[in-house]
Amino acid sequence: MRKKLIVANWKMYKTPDEARAYIAAFLPLVKEHNRGDIVLCPNFVCIPTVVDALRGSAIGAGGQDLSWEKEGPYTGEVSAHMLRAVGCSHVIIGHSERRQLFGETDDGVNRKVKAALAAGLQPIVCVGEVLAEREAGLTEDVLRRQCGIAFREIGGDDAAPLIMAYEPVWAIGTGKNATPEMAAEAHGVIRAEAAKACGEEVAQNLRILYGGSVKPENAASLMDQSEIDGALVGGASLDPQSFAAIVKY
Ligand code: PEP
Repeated sequence: MRKKLIVANWKMYKTPDEARAYIAAFLPLVKEHNRGDIVLCPNFVCIPTVVDALRGSAIGAGGQDLSWEKEGPYTGEVSAHMLRAVGCSHVIIGHSERRQLFGETDDGVNRKVKAALAAGLQPIVCVGEVLAEREAGLTEDVLRRQCGIAFREIGGDDAAPLIMAYEPVWAIGTGKNATPEMAAEAHGVIRAEAAKACGEEVAQNLRILYGGSVKPENAASLMDQSEIDGALVGGASLDPQSFAAIVKY
């Protein structure tokens, strides 16, 4: 049985003071919760505050992106080992907003996955099709390409910490959901690609999250699918009550 994982992607929201207030409200709401894992991914400047406020809880912290370089003259970049040094356990890689707005490529995603794994971070790798690709019947091709390149040159054992997130781009921040059947089909494609690249055992243990307008109202129907191992939550993770309701679906 794969344990469910619910990840909050706060995107470019919240100051350190707001992050601390959020966690003060959130922790009591999930105090009794032990059915699944929880990770909060704030912006870079909030990470130390979040790590500090989460101390003593079982909740992890993660970055929303990273550089594939370790250090050097790369203005504006943050490396895997810097994320580790401030207490991150996870990092989101290849989010569609990075791909669409900031020129993230499949090759860049692969380099970042390798850098994260080498530093001991668990990458949460986002893949998913845009609406035109779904309408043209290209969803499977897109997922195979994105996964094939993301998994390149990653050996079986090294891939064990990997987490994938299927995020149909047309469902992110739009209020539209993939149906549980659409998600299950996409997750099957991702798992098959993982098996091809990293072996059957890694693929069977791989957690594949669903992301795209997950809300308290639809969390249970998505999470009840055996192929859906958790959720990556954007908008609805910004409010502690709403995120707690998703965690406890
Ligand atoms: C996301 O940003 O990864 C996401 C899924 O956003 P939302 O939940 O707002 O659709």
